[in-house]
Formats: sequence, structure tokens, C-alpha cells
Amino acid sequence: MDEFEFIKNIKKRFSLRAIGDDCAVIPQNAETDLVITTDLLIEEVDFRLEWTTPGLIGHKALAVSLSDIAAMGAEPKWAMISVGVTETLWNSKFLDEFFDGWHDLAAIFEVELIGGDTSRSPDRLVIDSIVAGELPRGTAVMRSGAKPGDGVYVSGPLGGAAAGLKILKEGGKLKDSASDEQQALVMKQLRPLPQIRLASRLRKAGLASAMIDLSDGLSSDLAHLCSASSVGAIVNANDLPFEGELMNLAGSVEGMLDLTLNGGEDFELLFTANDEKISDAGMNDVFRIGEITANTGVIELNRNGQTELLPPAGFKHF
Ligand code: ADP
Ligand code: MG
Repeated sequence: MDEFEFIKNIKKRFSLRAIGDDCAVIPQNAETDLVITTDLLIEEVDFRLEWTTPGLIGHKALAVSLSDIAAMGAEPKWAMISVGVTETLWNSKFLDEFFDGWHDLAAIFEVELIGGDTSRSPDRLVIDSIVAGELPRGTAVMRSGAKPGDGVYVSGPLGGAAAGLKILKEGGKLKDSASDEQQALVMKQLRPLPQIRLASRLRKAGLASAMIDLSDGLSSDLAHLCSASSVGAIVNANDLPFEGELMNLAGSVEGMLDLTLNGGEDFELLFTANDEKISDAGMNDVFRIGEITANTGVIELNRNGQTELLPPAGFKHF
């Protein structure tokens, strides 16, 4: 059983309706819905202390949850942050710098820290980030609204964060000798920027029929969206946006495609929309990468006119 089957099982076992999207949506009053998400970051699994800085870990802990808020089209408002810290980190400046990084990002989106928990961890840093936000009642953009004929769009270039991770893995840490382009890819991995503003524009204009953030990788996250919407999709390999440096780093078209299709943690938005509405709205900062089909559960990749199945091969913990 993988982690997604596990989640499906608990959802079914206890008939839980709110589970399964990027955030849970809770009716607050006649005008407003509350959205809420939690993300767990574990040292050696989700980050390595020697590859990053305390401030960047603070930034990323908040960014990954803000990205889930964006995936609903909501405005972030409140956050809670819990930390399980080792004795060594406790006796260092780690937490001060961690909260500086956290706070710098929170300030941009006016997110208020309303609580958390502080505990001791025997040998690894553990972080739990909770963010809540709001939107007008009934306007949350779910994973489940995609319709055959909708275009499939992404908000930005793909594969950069996975390429950054590859550079970190190969060099152990960011080498002084790394080029500016390589440094930029490493920062995509260490300092992701949640697409709150674009998401809010899409929701206000009623443009996106379904949306998810790209945390596991396009092939897996598109499969989640298609499964929730009971549709299929076809992705055009030639339309996938990526940064030029990715090709140099991957060394081959296959390697580059693997990074863009299966690389996780770009925290861009993946959404579906009516193509005419997108062009009428003058949305020219998004990338159309394919189309939703009625072929339920079948996700295909079109490479120069030849189609092949696109299996979900993104990140999973189990
Ligand atoms: P995301 O990548 O958007 O954070 P996940 O893949 O982590 O989403 O989770 C998918 C859905 O499953 C979410 O609705 C999440 O709240 C829910 N979920 C994940 N783990 C658990 C768990 N241990 N118990 C209950 N719900 C869970
Ligand atoms: Mg998500």
C-alpha cells in the first residue's frame, strides 16, 4: 500500500468527506469558507541541514503550506508552527534564524502566527506547518472540477527544484564554483515561491475549473487531479516549460523530460480551464501543456505526434 492508498483507505473507513484536496474547506459563515492545510517536514527526509540554512528552512516550511492555500484559490490569513528540536539546535541560533526566514515570507502575504508547539526531538528536527485562509463561500477551486475539453495549464517552468536537488546531491552542498544558472536551480529547491497572487486572480475571475499545486511532480499531481475529477488527460511534451539550464544539467532529452514530468517541489500551480476564457482574460503568463479527455484514469504523453502512457512517477514517501 502506498501513501495515497493509505489516505484513500482512512477516508473510506470513516466516511470522511473533507479529506483529499490540497486543503480542507470548512464553511465559516454565510459569506465565507475557511481553508486549512498541514505539512510535516522531517530532517533527512524532507531537507538536510548541511544543504540549506535555518532561515531557508523557515521560509520553505511556510511556503509549502501557502502553496496548498494557493491551490484552492484562497487568501492565507493565519499560521501555526510546531517544532521538535534537538538539544544541539536548541543551544544554537537555529530557531532565531528559522523564525526570521519564516517571518519574512509571512510578512509578504500578511500571514499572522497564532500559535504552535515546541518540543524536544531525540535526533532529528521535525517541523509541522499549519496555514489557514479564507475565500468567499463556495468558491474554493477543488481538484475535482476538470471537464473533458478543458486545457491543462501550469503557472511556471517545471523541474527546476528537482534539478536543484540533483545539484545538491552531487556536490554535497552548493559549490562556490557552481554557475549562476545552477545556483538559481538550487534556490528553486531551497526557496520555493507560492503562487498566491496568480491563484487569487484565477479564482476571482472564475477561470480555473480544477487546481492542485505541484508538490510531488507533474505526472503524479495530474493523476491526483484526474482521479478527483474522473477524467483523463493528454500532455504535450513539446509544450512543457522548463529553464534552459535544465537541458545542460540533465544531459539528454530523456533526463530533461524525467525532471519536468516527475521532479517534485516546484510548487507551481497545475490547473484546468476553458481555453477561450483564459485568452479572453489576457492570461498570458501561464503555460498550456495539454488537454483534459473523457478517457477516465488514462493520462498520456504526446511526443511529436506519438502518444504513450504517462505513469505517475513523482515523489512519494511510501
Ligand atoms: P498535499 O501534497 O497537497 O499536501 P497530500 O498528498 O499530503 O496533499 O495529502 C492529500 C490529502 O490527504 C489531503 O487532503 C490531506 O489532508 C490528507 N491526508 C494526508 N495524510 C493524512 C493523514 N495522516 N490523516 C488524514 N488525512 C491525511
Ligand atoms: Mg498540495
